[in-house]
Amino acid sequence: MTQKEPVPMGQKGRNMTLDTILEEIKKAEKIVILAHETPDGDAIGSCLAMNLAVKALGKSADVVIKEFPRVFDFLPGRDEVKTESNVEQYDLAIALDCADLKRLVGKEYFEEAKQTIVIDHHGSNKMFGDINFVNPVAPACCQILIGMFEYFGIDINKELGTCILTGIITDTGGFKYPGVTAETFEFTAELLGKGVNVSDIYKRVLQTKTKANFELMKRTLNRMEILEDGKVTFTYVTNQDLKEVNAGIGDHEGLVELGRDIEGVEVSIFIREKDEAENTYKVSMRSNNYVNVSDVCLMFGGGGHQRAAGATAQGTIEEVRDNEFVITNTEVTGSINIIKKFNWCISIILSNREIK
Ligand code: 5GP
Ligand code: MN
Repeated sequence: MTQKEPVPMGQKGRNMTLDTILEEIKKAEKIVILAHETPDGDAIGSCLAMNLAVKALGKSADVVIKEFPRVFDFLPGRDEVKTESNVEQYDLAIALDCADLKRLVGKEYFEEAKQTIVIDHHGSNKMFGDINFVNPVAPACCQILIGMFEYFGIDINKELGTCILTGIITDTGGFKYPGVTAETFEFTAELLGKGVNVSDIYKRVLQTKTKANFELMKRTLNRMEILEDGKVTFTYVTNQDLKEVNAGIGDHEGLVELGRDIEGVEVSIFIREKDEAENTYKVSMRSNNYVNVSDVCLMFGGGGHQRAAGATAQGTIEEVRDNEFVITNTEVTGSINIIKKFNWCISIILSNREIK
């Protein structure tokens, strides 16, 4: 990997936040790179890309990811990923693709670190770092990294490009979500020219289903309920399902998309029983055209993007679907009394609001 000459400090066209980030990386001896729980392709791709970038700057870092979905095993640098670290205090912690400290895996390293950086693309980002570089318009955290690395003068070679493109492909649903920009395609074209196998990445991360994922898909489709005059779908998987199909890390990915693809459906809701605590469910939502599911999930202590968001709820499946669940991680306590259930909340939005 070669390094281009960075623009000298104080020169026109400089970005102070990026200058500071570069300075902090260069200054730090011990660096840790972290991402959000149940990491997707953007979280994984961002961490591995940042690791390569740190190396290109002549430094090294620990990438700590507790649960690494095996679909991303092909990515360069995967072998260096640790599930935990015994470093007591890092000089610098970098959180990627994560909107909220409570969702950050390895937050103890982040909280203890002397300096912290947050790089993300969620509109609901809580700006929990000392330095925050957040662009809610970027379709993937990985796309933010392109501009950042170019600014740092790092050559985006085949390895780095493969990590970045994995994040872009997964977070844009294979270039099909509206957040895709001209830069997304320009960068992809450039990488194709550098020998990155776009079609292979696409096939591995979006097309190929594990057997467990396929079995879960059958169950979720069989159980799917169509609510609110065909505008909302609801389905779920339990721990029992996960056990029976021998599901591994990440095998539930994509199941929330199934409902959204039905004609006339605006919102799909998918819940997954969490391993750690009984009766705790991870809620995933997707929308098509006008419901801002990030707003809905924010009311339940979660967050995300306008068309893809999540939260955590406690109750039985029926309670979570129908009403009487306990909100487990909300900080928006005032909303609890007003907002009683997802469907109610969504139906109000369906009837009252059109969000561009
Ligand atoms: P998924 O449904 O794929 O788990 O998540 C969709 C999007 O919402 C992702 O960008 C994810 O980071 C975000 N998200 C999911 N769950 C939560 C949550 O509990 N809190 C916040 N802030 N974001 C979430
Ligand atoms: Mn992302």
